[in-house]
Amino acid sequence: MSILSYVVKLENLQELRRLCHWGPVIALSVIGVCSSVAILDSVIWFWPLDTTGGSINFIMLINWTVLILYNYFNAMFVGPGYIPLGWKPENVQDSPYLQFCRVCQGFKSPRSHHCRKCNRCVMKMDHHCPWINNCCGHLNHAYFTSFLLLAPLGCVHAAFIFIMTMYTQLSDRISFGWSSVKIDMSAVKWSPQAIIPFSVPAFAATLFGLGLALGTTIAVGMLFVIQMKVIFRNKTSIEAWIEEKAKDRIQYYQTGEEFIFPYDLGSRWENFRQVFTWSGTPEGDGIEWPVHERCHQHTLTIEQLKQKADKRVRSVQYRVIEDYSGACCPLGKGVQTLIRTPCTEEPRIPLSRGETVFATRGTKWWMYGDKVLDEDQAKAGGRMRGWFPRRCVEKCLYDAASSSATGSGKKDD
Ligand SMILES: [Zn+2]
Ligand SMILES: [Zn+2]
Repeated sequence: MSILSYVVKLENLQELRRLCHWGPVIALSVIGVCSSVAILDSVIWFWPLDTTGGSINFIMLINWTVLILYNYFNAMFVGPGYIPLGWKPENVQDSPYLQFCRVCQGFKSPRSHHCRKCNRCVMKMDHHCPWINNCCGHLNHAYFTSFLLLAPLGCVHAAFIFIMTMYTQLSDRISFGWSSVKIDMSAVKWSPQAIIPFSVPAFAATLFGLGLALGTTIAVGMLFVIQMKVIFRNKTSIEAWIEEKAKDRIQYYQTGEEFIFPYDLGSRWENFRQVFTWSGTPEGDGIEWPVHERCHQHTLTIEQLKQKADKRVRSVQYRVIEDYSGACCPLGKGVQTLIRTPCTEEPRIPLSRGETVFATRGTKWWMYGDKVLDEDQAKAGGRMRGWFPRRCVEKCLYDAASSSATGSGKKDD
């Protein structure tokens, strides 16, 4: 009873809501289709259970499914670990080195970032993954990466079953003509061992499964390679971007600083062991981190604060000259704007004529930045940041002011 009440807590039921999203629905459907078709194909046609090989094959298929689902659900429900709301550093003197999160009403501990989808500050955030409908971060990094390894391995096994089933079932039914291939799908020629003939629906399901399995192997396999790079360098995708900007900032202002990424422990094995442990829980509490000998706990957070200050100075003010609805692929804003829409889940912000935006980056057709809000919205702590078409805005002519601001920024550093 106590176990049951532990498992069925209200919190856990709330967590189940994560399943109601296109990501988990598609991911679980792919896992379900590939495993069930592979199991049916091998049991009925390719490798019956009354042989030793068939039994081993069957156990392995079940094993892949269980391991994949185990890691998948752990990645989703264990989650990345969130920084407690209203968190403060133990030592109050450290707070000037940290950014403050207005949504969580607390400081952002080193390596944490606020995720707008999860609406919380996430420990060692790497990215928000729509497929698990949760962030990939500190606590679920190992589960997530194991899933990315196991899914392609299981899919390769399933693809082998699909190809062999089709080959053995169809090899004597295929006839090649000059310019055509004929497959005789009449049920007459069924083999005596098979309980059911390999019919058109079975063939279609197997072919469909093969497509899914091969697609998953390639797509998920690539994600696995990316995550292994993250783990071996102990540098999340977000931190790689911060490092990039740090080098750019140092070069731009010629400050002569040397930037050392603090969390790379020097060897791949050491970095690997931070994430993968025998207990399943990664090293550390997700707030304090082991760092390079020439760095300290706040090396990266101070760099982030510098970049934040710098971004304010280097952002460019634009005036809105054309209304924009906030659509991803807006009609009537030109063909290039329509087809060159940024491939990201980041939001688009609607604009009306006369408003002001501060842009921090952009492409030839789109820009990213903050909209200047009216007083009421700003007081409520609101913020509107996202993409908008470049043709809807016009640069404000404050060149003298902005260049003097850049000059003073240079002095500060
Ligand atoms: Zn936050
Ligand atoms: Zn998230």
